[in-house]
Amino acid sequence: MKKALIVIDYTNDFVAADGKLTCGEPGQAIESKIVELIETFTEQKELVVFANDVHFEGDLYHPETKLFPPHNIFGTSGRELYGKVKTKYEENKAQYISLDKTRYSAFASTNLALLLKERGINEIHLVGVCTDICVLHTAVDAYNLSYKTIIYKGGVASFNKAGHDWALGHFEHTLGATVK
Ligand code: ZN
Repeated sequence: MKKALIVIDYTNDFVAADGKLTCGEPGQAIESKIVELIETFTEQKELVVFANDVHFEGDLYHPETKLFPPHNIFGTSGRELYGKVKTKYEENKAQYISLDKTRYSAFASTNLALLLKERGINEIHLVGVCTDICVLHTAVDAYNLSYKTIIYKGGVASFNKAGHDWALGHFEHTLGATVK
């Protein structure tokens, strides 16, 4: 394994039409690109990580409680992967890593850096939602940890179009990531 695909928050609450904090159509439009990348990484025996937000009902102390409606609540269908990405995950789940995260970044208080280090991986490929929130914060941590980072324009989306466009520029010009 030389590289890892990290699929960020591609869950019903962030993507489905009736999701609690949904990106809506832009989120649904990236489904086939994410599926294609999962297939490629799986065929090449590279690591695929599904990093999903987890929150708990009525958590008064979580900073997002004041900022966003409740989403990705533990044990709900909103926290399940969306559409064909879920199907792909189910097909090969023994081969994948499912990672729960409680902050925007997939690196924040998780063992992601350790999992990558154990496998000698220093190149990460990011897809998922939202471009300007969880993908952005993951990319910032990847920059600080010196990972080579690739972000797929057709594999990220947000409910905030201006934020999405800004983040794509930031990845390339400030974080030195490859946007393709
Ligand atoms: Zn959240």
